[in-house]
Amino acid sequence: MRNYLLLTPGPLSTAETIREAMLLDWCTWDKDYNEGIVTPIRRKLLELAKVNDTEYTTILLQGSGTYSVEAAIGATVKADDKLLIISNGAYGERMSTIADYYNLNHIIIPLQETEPIRPEIVREALDSHINVTHFAMVHCETTTGILNPLQEISEVLKEYSVTFILDAMSSFGGIPIDMKAYGIDFLISSANKCIQGVPGFGFIIASKEKLQECQGIARSLSLDIYDQWETMEKGKGKWRFTSPTHVVRAFYQALHELEQEGGVEARYERYRENNRILIEGMRALGFTSLLPESIQSPVITSFLYPSEEFSFQDFYDKLKQKGFVIYPGKISQAETFRIGNIGDVYPEDIKRLLRAIRETLD
Ligand SMILES: *Cc1c(COP(=O)(O)O)cnc(C)c1O
Repeated sequence: MRNYLLLTPGPLSTAETIREAMLLDWCTWDKDYNEGIVTPIRRKLLELAKVNDTEYTTILLQGSGTYSVEAAIGATVKADDKLLIISNGAYGERMSTIADYYNLNHIIIPLQETEPIRPEIVREALDSHINVTHFAMVHCETTTGILNPLQEISEVLKEYSVTFILDAMSSFGGIPIDMKAYGIDFLISSANKCIQGVPGFGFIIASKEKLQECQGIARSLSLDIYDQWETMEKGKGKWRFTSPTHVVRAFYQALHELEQEGGVEARYERYRENNRILIEGMRALGFTSLLPESIQSPVITSFLYPSEEFSFQDFYDKLKQKGFVIYPGKISQAETFRIGNIGDVYPEDIKRLLRAIRETLD
């Protein structure tokens, strides 16, 4: 059962089996739920980040992804700390907005939306701003689809003693990330991106040592990740406050299906294949992608409007009639639209999309 295929950065088209997993009700305080569903999810997330539970832990948090980003920033940066954000898109900007709301001592270095966060930029920023204690950035900036060079940046960060907060919302589960090797202290993602669950909660994978320093820092009760973590630990998977039980059960199924697919590496290969077919096919139809291949993520692609007369709304409506929902652009310097290729989406779907696009152009 499908109304249309979502070619968006999430929420995305999910497998029927994921949606079917939501047909039962669960008691938020019962061990069938806490020990049988939540605890295995927490364990599996560590595995996906290639870390173990002696040094790392997980916190699941109600709300969309932004709630978890806000929670991670608001519960880790103290009044006398200093947060450096390097941004090349709307989600990096959002971290700065969060810091504004909390009156945190912070600096944002805004780059062009088509410019990757090169390691030299990180080094220069850390050298020119003294006393930076926390560094935050977005891995895959969904605004354009740019993939920032995480590994190279992590090499630079290791020379400085800063806490590393990574928004890996649209990459975790779909692009391999070795959390310990990259020195990531807080990694944030959510249920409805590359793990292909339905929306309703986010999660933070944290260095235990760093998390333990966060007691009493949060300025918001519901976003207090230390408190949430403590409850989950002591209650063996118990959430503070009502949790989105059906969504969590669907996520459990999504993790199972990720494993069946062959894990993160296999999913990464599928996304890359989807993306390769998409970009090649669009080029053949006369479209140009915004970013060069070297910095293009396998998750979502921005395409330039093919002409001055191009009407996105018209294009969108025609594709929707044919069963495909695409995404508007989000950048200021160029007229673009976006096509995502994550979710329950396969090369055959992308080929069908390309045929549909060709028909709309006739
Ligand atoms: C989706 C996304 C978020 C979170 O957005 P929500 O709408 O709050 O779920 C944050 N950062 C990035 C890079 C994203 O792609």
